[in-house]
Amino acid sequence: MEALVEKVMRMCEEITSLLECDGCGECCRSRVTVLSGERERIEKLAMEKGISLKMDENSVLPAPCPFLREGRCIIYGNRPLVCRIYPFKFLHGLSLFLVAIDECPLASRIYNMLCSIPAEIKIERHGGTAKIPLSLLEKLHDMIAGDVNEKIRIGEIME
Ligand code: SF4
Ligand code: SF4
Repeated sequence: MEALVEKVMRMCEEITSLLECDGCGECCRSRVTVLSGERERIEKLAMEKGISLKMDENSVLPAPCPFLREGRCIIYGNRPLVCRIYPFKFLHGLSLFLVAIDECPLASRIYNMLCSIPAEIKIERHGGTAKIPLSLLEKLHDMIAGDVNEKIRIGEIME
């Protein structure tokens, strides 16, 4: 099961890194929960940056996030996994959700792309949150990764 979660997280991370984010920083102004396995690493990063980090016992970062400075993440390359896969989120155990569809421009774009993919299992949407079937995530991932590879092949992306 762990291997499946890792695979799904990797796909989410690839999707969010290949699509353009507006960089509005809105997601960094709410409370972010760091995975327990990452807590020590994030505390060390805070120390290195001279930040006195007060995470609660559930590894929740204060809001707005102390790593957000002048609208930018000062640990961007080392940011927690939850930030790297946002606006995807694991909720209720192993179920994958897309969150903040009405607030996050990237989430809204991903949602529209998911809705445009023909699929037997439909997306379940409740307000600004949608439950994403893994088969649909795989299709989106292949579509985006394939599109990037095609652009590289025909030389549309330089370097
Ligand atoms: S992930 Fe969404 S909310 Fe966060 S900075 Fe990007 S566009 Fe804004
Ligand atoms: S660690 Fe960086 S990306 Fe994550 S919430 Fe804080 S500022 Fe935003």
